[in-house]
Amino acid sequence: MPASSRHLLKIEGLTPPEIGQYLDLAESYVLLNRSGKTQRDLLRGRTLINLFFEDSTRTRTSFELAGKRLGADVINMSVSNSSVNKGETLLDTAATLNAMHCDLLVVRHAQSGAPNLLAQKVDAAVINAGDGTHEHPTQALLDALTIRRRKGRLAGLVVAICGDILHSRVARSNIHLLTTLGSEVRLVGPPTLIPAEAASLGVSVHHSMEQGLAGADIVMMLRLQRERMASGPVPSAREYFRFYGLDRGKLAYARPDALVMHPGPMNRGVEIDSDIADDPERSVIREQVEMGVAVRMAVLDLLSRRGPRNAR
Ligand code: ASP
Repeated sequence: MPASSRHLLKIEGLTPPEIGQYLDLAESYVLLNRSGKTQRDLLRGRTLINLFFEDSTRTRTSFELAGKRLGADVINMSVSNSSVNKGETLLDTAATLNAMHCDLLVVRHAQSGAPNLLAQKVDAAVINAGDGTHEHPTQALLDALTIRRRKGRLAGLVVAICGDILHSRVARSNIHLLTTLGSEVRLVGPPTLIPAEAASLGVSVHHSMEQGLAGADIVMMLRLQRERMASGPVPSAREYFRFYGLDRGKLAYARPDALVMHPGPMNRGVEIDSDIADDPERSVIREQVEMGVAVRMAVLDLLSRRGPRNAR
């Protein structure tokens, strides 16, 4: 699926220029947002539906804000998928959305591949806002923008992605994006939380924070996703923090100017110490949230230019 596709379903397969196009446009939206101006004419008359089958605070709000800053009519639909046959519901939902003439559809779903299925059935441009353990493309774009603005580049940087890689769609999207743009990616975590396919992804795997963080430019911490863990791959939160939680001592293994990232929501005291998370010298976690709005504005802008407007 090329980036010139009218959907954004995954980072995997995008080329450096295609990723660069999103990042460059997002950069201009960072400046616009900081100036306090809006561009409400851009998506005037367009309808953006946020369809979230899984809980979300920052991603949904971020897409809502992005749509509103560009003048779209934004509707939030929260759907519980606990008691329904997911396949049937998705197809029913697609038919409903087509009847509503939705232009842009932002989807989060607990099942990997759900946005892809919807994209085949709806007229709208579909943006994957996180599907199961598969991908979360706008998170990787906002992480890349944050790094590029701080470090001036992505190529040649050492990025350590740490913690619950197994359940993380954020990690998967970031691995694809960062390796495509020439970063050295290391996965760091206990063997039970590193996916078996890691070796084929062009990354190195480390089970000790000391080795994984040595000389790293970026330390990206991930949330321990207990809701996706059927059995207990981790003995206790306390023990996890002792070996894999980021504190001052472990951060000292990285470069002195290493930046700390986290996609949120954070489990303070489990994967990251508050002392680090709130340190403005090292943590860019708040900046990631700011970049998220700009990236989503860029995605909505680009996709709305590409897609054929719904036949009405
Ligand atoms: N917010 C991110 C996601 O939706 C990360 C997380 O939930 O831990 O995947």
